[in-house]
Amino acid sequence: MNVYDSNRMADVLAAQGFQVVAAAEAADLIILNTCHIREKAVEKVFSELGRLRRLRSRSSDGEASGEARRPLLAIAGCVAQAEGAEIARRAPFADIIVGPQAYHRLPELIASVERDGTPALDTDFPAEPKFDSLPEVQATTSPGSAFVTVQEGCDRFCTFCVVPYTRGAEYSRPASDVLTEVHRLVELGAREITLLGQNVNAYHGVGPDGEVWSLARLIAALADIPGVARIRFTTSHPADMDEGLIAAFREQPKLMPFLHLPVQSGADAVLAAMNRNHTADDYRRLVDRLRQARPDLALGTDLIVGFPGETDRDFAATLTLVEDCRFAQAYSFKFSARPGTPAAREPQVPEEVKEERLAALQTALDRHRQAFNAAMLGRRVAVLFDRHGRRHGQIVGRSPYMQAVVASSPALRLGSLATVEITAVGPNSLAGTLIEGVSA
Ligand code: SAH
Ligand code: SF4
Repeated sequence: MNVYDSNRMADVLAAQGFQVVAAAEAADLIILNTCHIREKAVEKVFSELGRLRRLRSRSSDGEASGEARRPLLAIAGCVAQAEGAEIARRAPFADIIVGPQAYHRLPELIASVERDGTPALDTDFPAEPKFDSLPEVQATTSPGSAFVTVQEGCDRFCTFCVVPYTRGAEYSRPASDVLTEVHRLVELGAREITLLGQNVNAYHGVGPDGEVWSLARLIAALADIPGVARIRFTTSHPADMDEGLIAAFREQPKLMPFLHLPVQSGADAVLAAMNRNHTADDYRRLVDRLRQARPDLALGTDLIVGFPGETDRDFAATLTLVEDCRFAQAYSFKFSARPGTPAAREPQVPEEVKEERLAALQTALDRHRQAFNAAMLGRRVAVLFDRHGRRHGQIVGRSPYMQAVVASSPALRLGSLATVEITAVGPNSLAGTLIEGVSA
């Protein structure tokens, strides 16, 4: 979602005459868009701030000799939201601190800094959603593919998570706004649309017919847009996975057979302490129903090890769940105590136990990912190519199952969909040969 937000900030600023440059050194305005989800992400922000400070003092020297203007520095995103005061204290050289729900006001914030010469802070949750003030989207996220935020914020309050505090209460964009944005993205060359939300399957936006639309209904409407070839959505909560959405995997060929469905833990006691509202067996049953609807469905997940109170037995239950679910892809994290969340106040699992569990978990997850990838050998898959590879003439794209696929074709345009026969399987990507003809 930060990628989407960064693009939208660029859209807001384009109307002011700004354009994106390749390096911070060349910028009049530097925006650091930040993530607060784990402590590590926050540490990165402060180290990057140190680097930018050096860059800025260099360009102030330049100003003295008339070579360059001192760039404005803005901190955006969830660290700005949660730690605005701390940033102002540790990085008094920052000009603008703007939260994720207020970035449509960047032009006013820039004007106020330029007028008053003092830093500006805006971490409001305005009653008028920012989407109502954002200009028309100007570009796809990558060639052929675009993100669209449809839902933001979260009301679930998992006990480890900062999202409800940083992104605010759950909000769904009206379906007609989403449809308008997708039509525009198709005009700009998008063939794949990824619907985004912190809890995207809780989507309940007002439809053009005045009824409340579910995510499944929104997907059906998007599938009717002729230029849209692929639809994805992320991230989903297991307890918000309704029948209609499960059925969409059976009924909508444009809905890609990959689902990111974070489970966090395989132990019921831990799931309850996390306030996840489902058991490990509920999750297994859900996976079974999804695989009945779409037998080739590839499943992704997120897992946390070392949640407060997690015992060896609890962790073993997570390993069992991993064996049962055979995830094609997964992100796994050591629990990170986040300020203001209930789990941060509980006695913590020692760091070395977290390390050990993470290593064991990642070994199991890697094995499943590799088995899933190995099964692709010799198969033909549709690939949407969106970037150049490291070697000359190489292009890289995504299979329907989200795997990176590398092929060689100096002639094929980025943003094209083409069929590839998989000829080799590496640890992180597949390689293949382009088959004649571009697939639908
Ligand atoms: N809305 C999604 C996840 C959003 S955060 C869901 O409900 O699952 C993305 C991932 O970051 C989470 O799935 C979780 O695995 C991880 N995460 C969030 N808070 C964390 C914390 N305090 N410590 C470690 N991992 C965390
Ligand atoms: Fe955070 Fe996801 Fe839980 Fe919401 S559902 S509180 S975003 S982990």
